[in-house]
Amino acid sequence: MEAVALKINEIFYSIQGESLLAGKPTVFVRTASCNLKCRWCDTQQTPWQGKRMEIDEILTEVKNYQTDYVCITGGEPLAQKGSVVLIDKLLASGYVVSLETNGSFSIKDVPRASIKVIDLKCPDSGESESIAWENFSLVAKQDQFKFVVASKGDFDWALKICEDYKLNEKCTVLFSPVYGQVKPADLAAWILSSHAKATLQLQLHKEIWGPDEKGV
Ligand code: SF4
Repeated sequence: MEAVALKINEIFYSIQGESLLAGKPTVFVRTASCNLKCRWCDTQQTPWQGKRMEIDEILTEVKNYQTDYVCITGGEPLAQKGSVVLIDKLLASGYVVSLETNGSFSIKDVPRASIKVIDLKCPDSGESESIAWENFSLVAKQDQFKFVVASKGDFDWALKICEDYKLNEKCTVLFSPVYGQVKPADLAAWILSSHAKATLQLQLHKEIWGPDEKGV
């Protein structure tokens, strides 16, 4: 039976801070709860707040904002079956839909026309064992793999994964520093000196509003 509801943490309108869509005015649908516990997580609220919303109710709220871009984020959206249904319905309504996932779930059921931004958890996160490796063969050209790097050790690990699996031939690879732990200039220097086929990404929303602002 098709899932008709989701547990939602918040729906808000802001500037997309991450991915190749960074800078776009976007409606964010943040699902509640996550199956991982990254050491540096900035969205851990204890307990994860959330209210049950019918998918049609979510669509109605999204339509209140005048933008073509919707981002489904978390927490971990794919921990709830309804996320796939929601993405389907948003695509059918004409939205450009991106999904931010922590990379621990298969994307096999996620509509191919959506843009999947898939975290590949580096060792310093404490969650690198969680990676769903099958996603390496399921991505489409518009999708993006993202490594959030907390140290030079993380960077070297990410670089090896990129090279071993030729990730840049599958889709864009993003390298992003953990805010306050790796200086953007250091990550830029590592990318340049290693000739990594990757795109440096900074969290734009933190540059605009600061690291502690919620709902942006
Ligand atoms: S996957 Fe994301 S939401 Fe979940 S613990 Fe890690 S950083 Fe936090």
